[in-house]
Amino acid sequence: MIDFAPSEAARAVEGVARKLAAEVLAPAAEALDRDGGFPRVSLEEIAKARLLAVNLPQELGGRAAGVVAYSLAITELARGCAATTVAVCVSNMVAEVVNHFGTPAQRQLHVPQLAAGRHVVGAFALSEAAAGSDAGAMRTRARKTDRGWVLDGGKLWITSGSDAGLFVVWARTEDTPGTRGISAFLVPGDVAGLGRGKPEHKLGLRGSTTVALDFAGVEVPDDALLGERGRGFPVAMMALDGGRIGIASQALGIAGGALDAATQWARDRFGADVPQHVQWALADSATELEAARLLTLRAAWLKETGRPFSQAASMAKLTASERGFAICDRLLALMGEAAQRRGHPVERAFRDIRVTMIYEGTSEVQRVVLSRDIMRRFADDGGRT
Ligand SMILES: Cc1cc2nc3c(=O)[nH]c(=O)nc-3n(C[C@H](O)[C@H](O)[C@H](O)COP(=O)(O)OP(=O)(O)OC[C@H]3O[C@@H](n4cnc5c(N)ncnc54)[C@H](O)[C@@H]3O)c2cc1C
Repeated sequence: MIDFAPSEAARAVEGVARKLAAEVLAPAAEALDRDGGFPRVSLEEIAKARLLAVNLPQELGGRAAGVVAYSLAITELARGCAATTVAVCVSNMVAEVVNHFGTPAQRQLHVPQLAAGRHVVGAFALSEAAAGSDAGAMRTRARKTDRGWVLDGGKLWITSGSDAGLFVVWARTEDTPGTRGISAFLVPGDVAGLGRGKPEHKLGLRGSTTVALDFAGVEVPDDALLGERGRGFPVAMMALDGGRIGIASQALGIAGGALDAATQWARDRFGADVPQHVQWALADSATELEAARLLTLRAAWLKETGRPFSQAASMAKLTASERGFAICDRLLALMGEAAQRRGHPVERAFRDIRVTMIYEGTSEVQRVVLSRDIMRRFADDGGRT
């Protein structure tokens, strides 16, 4: 049996997110995009609604609502403000990674703080200047000492890096090259020797602070190691698999918000007599969005039910981000001068959605990974894809 209806509980979480998006995020979104800054007040409200830990156990302060509920919530929040939503996505991802790979003590210490917003948000520090798509090329090092570890190096483009109270940081602990010999560490935001750069001046998501981090002899204790020594790369890859469901959901919300604005415009401008080219643009956009939504919810359901979901998450992110961008582009063209003003919801959506094709694995990298899977399956399955 195929059941396409999310559970009542998931719908309830979606409703909470929709209300927050309408009442808190959307009213602040235009000013945040114009002036930059960090959406601290909105994030406090999001934490109060326990949407910083949607898929985390209740005993650790989470909602235990599952991955489908998480996807629905992120889609709704992104309709209100895409920039605030990426901080929510990353913080949920950090909480999940601590919950999954952490020791009982690490989970007890950090997950409730992340869930309640006491860390403000969590941040995920993997990328470096010469290590974006190829994260295995990272140079940041962690050296073992009698008291723990000392981190030296730098990270780039770290979402919420200006304000986050907890970082998961990847660093090379062994001399083996490539993806081996990398470990993950839990680093508090107030640790001595951590430098936070100024927020990047970006095309979109201007209300999300994206900063460089500098680690100059940062000392952390032994129990900062997350997961096994030298096995940090699989931790990052597993986190990003789940993270892609969040980013696909974010793209759905951004494009969905643009479609709402374009539909309102069509109604205001043409009333009951909408020209055919406008009808087609709205119909194509809604259809493409629905296709991307089905892929995204399927990936969420696979993860929620403990099935392999990595390929489905890549397909969902690839489709939701690229179709979402095409939808925003189409609607921008459709509305002509009406949507050209800086800060118009469709103009902002067009800028905000572009990065969903870049972070948590670019579209090109998704294609590389997916085609590898297709070739493998073809070989294993007697010439069938
Ligand atoms: C707004 C924003 C927020 C971010 N937040 C975070 C964060 O919180 N934490 C974090 O760790 N990182 C973060 N990043 C970094 C992001 O993950 C990287 O930008 C991304 O992984 C791509 O790396 P790169 O920019 O170095 O590009 P590169 O890896 O240098 O790629 C450049 C181009 O080459 C293509 N390419 C690279 N390799 C291949 C290949 N094998 N085959 C085909 N094409 C290829 C890419 O698709 C891309 O088009 C963020 C980035 C942005 C823009």
